[in-house]
Amino acid sequence: MSRAWWGLLWRLAALVSVAAVTGEWLFGQPLLGVSLAALGALGWQLWRLYQLERWLLDDKEAKPPQSGRIWEGVITGIDRLRRQNRKRKRKFGRLLEQFQHATAALPDAAVILDEEDKVVWCNSAAQALLGLTSGRDAGLPVANLVRHPGFVAFLNQRRARDSVEFPSPVDDGLTLGARIVPYGKKQRLLLATDISRVRRLEQMRRDFITNVSHELRTPLTVIIGYLEPLLDSDHPALESWRPPLRGMRQQAGRMLRIVEDLLLLARLEAQKDRAPKKPVDVPALLADIADDALALSGEQGHEIRVKADPDLWLLGCEKELRSAFSNLAFNAVRYTPPGGKIELRWFADGTEVCLAVEDNGEGIAAHHLPRLSERFYRVNRDRSRGSGGTGLGLSIVKHVLNNHGGQLRIASEPGKGSLFVCAFPAELRAQDAETAATRAPPARDFAEPASGCKSAGAG
Ligand code: ADP
Repeated sequence: MSRAWWGLLWRLAALVSVAAVTGEWLFGQPLLGVSLAALGALGWQLWRLYQLERWLLDDKEAKPPQSGRIWEGVITGIDRLRRQNRKRKRKFGRLLEQFQHATAALPDAAVILDEEDKVVWCNSAAQALLGLTSGRDAGLPVANLVRHPGFVAFLNQRRARDSVEFPSPVDDGLTLGARIVPYGKKQRLLLATDISRVRRLEQMRRDFITNVSHELRTPLTVIIGYLEPLLDSDHPALESWRPPLRGMRQQAGRMLRIVEDLLLLARLEAQKDRAPKKPVDVPALLADIADDALALSGEQGHEIRVKADPDLWLLGCEKELRSAFSNLAFNAVRYTPPGGKIELRWFADGTEVCLAVEDNGEGIAAHHLPRLSERFYRVNRDRSRGSGGTGLGLSIVKHVLNNHGGQLRIASEPGKGSLFVCAFPAELRAQDAETAATRAPPARDFAEPASGCKSAGAG
């Protein structure tokens, strides 16, 4: 026990003794004296309590009431806590102010959502980009405020890594890119950025490539138009010119193919996700492509086989699919030595519908595989040019598959061969009735379908 308490006890004992003696002396009753003294002491303590209460409630900066040592201890303790509290408050106030300044300066919209996706808080950019205001919209479901179907589907998907693009609800001319990341306990943070500039630049790049390609196509066609009759002519004066003319014809043809592939890529990008969906007789298409691949092989004598399920049709765009499948089949011919084997398999395996193009050609080293579908990426530039490649074939395949919600999978081993698989979602499988109603008689007999979309091993 502290000295203050001992002092208080002594003072109390002295007061009781004095009160008892005084009570005996004045009234002949010591207890009456003690009771009066106790009442006085109680009154005094109540008065101090009242002063303390006023100090706590009224004036925060006022000096604390001066009283006995015990009360001083209590008051000093309270005062210290109050000062610490005030300091902490000021610190949090400053932090909050900094946070508010920082979020107000952010060009991106930030919206905190609770576990039911209701708005908890948003910064000022959220008003400019999403039309949300913290005061007015707090507590409302964000899906009721930002109603774009793509955004709502994304919100319900709950995938932190993905992002979504949609027009701003405030201004149609703005394209927003949004992500939703986990935040605090069960909350989520919606971040939306204005990506209109990036999209505009991409559009400008696309337009530029399309315009240049269009501009180049006509002169190239004219040049080829002049070269052809010169090459066909038997005129003796042209005899020594034949090799350079052939070289010019070959190079002009290659340029024209590049220009046409670039135009096709631009068209594919422009109609992203909007490929017209009609039942396509893929088995007949593959038969055509196999004939063309045989023609391309010519005297090289490749063995080209088609194994296709004759009843398996696909909902899609025939022109695009023809272009993608031909690219794969022609690549197989171009990168497989004469006499090699090439197989086109068309089959369904439950969750997917697949086209596999397999060859036992030169194969590709593993480190090239991730970059193979980039524009103009070639494993061997001279080899590709020599065989008439544009460097755009697999890029076209990837775009066509994207437009059909499909995926390109590649497995290859140098010296053994390659396997390219175009995997389409099973929903694109054409309905039998629809197929039966629209299909022509089969163009040729096909062997048994192979199975297993994911079968990798090539060669
Ligand atoms: P290219 O016009 O050069 O063939 P692609 O985009 O079609 O362009 O193919 C990119 C590269 O992938 C090719 O240069 C080639 O090296 C490689 N490639 C594509 N298909 C095969 C294949 N079946 N076998 C071996 N390599 C291939």
